[in-house]
Amino acid sequence: MSQKILYIDMDGVICDFYSAFDKLAPEVRTEYAGREDQIPGLFALMDPMPSAVEAVTTLTSLFDVYVLSTVPWANVTGASQKIEWIQRYFGHEKGSPLWKRVILSHHKHLNRGDYLIDDRSRNGAAEFPDTNPGGEWVHFGSEQFPDWPTVVDYLTPRAA
Ligand SMILES: [Mg+2]
Repeated sequence: MSQKILYIDMDGVICDFYSAFDKLAPEVRTEYAGREDQIPGLFALMDPMPSAVEAVTTLTSLFDVYVLSTVPWANVTGASQKIEWIQRYFGHEKGSPLWKRVILSHHKHLNRGDYLIDDRSRNGAAEFPDTNPGGEWVHFGSEQFPDWPTVVDYLTPRAA
């Protein structure tokens, strides 16, 4: 039997968006106040969320896993930075857990699958169950799914 399809968001789920800000010069923070997602090189500065690399790697052995992330429309270099980030933490070679498994979209509900792990409802995340009957939005950071261990415990018995 083929594995169920699982999509995983990046910002606030695999990588810690806010960890980058502590590494920025104060003048850069001031210049980009209110439009932080346009800061050049921002994505490369992000740390992984706690347990994220281990959890995602575990899930790739159980599900057909794809990263499903959105690039800020005003920061097109974010696309290459996101792929570089995935390669840095998960490997760039054939056979690495996320090899050629990055999808960048503003319309996540158009992807066909079983589960979407996402911390926000935007860009089609909340509509994912509507367009995928039986599909589920695992709302990362919510009361039900506060962290990666909770998510892995929830999804593991649902893989088969
Ligand atoms: Mg996110």
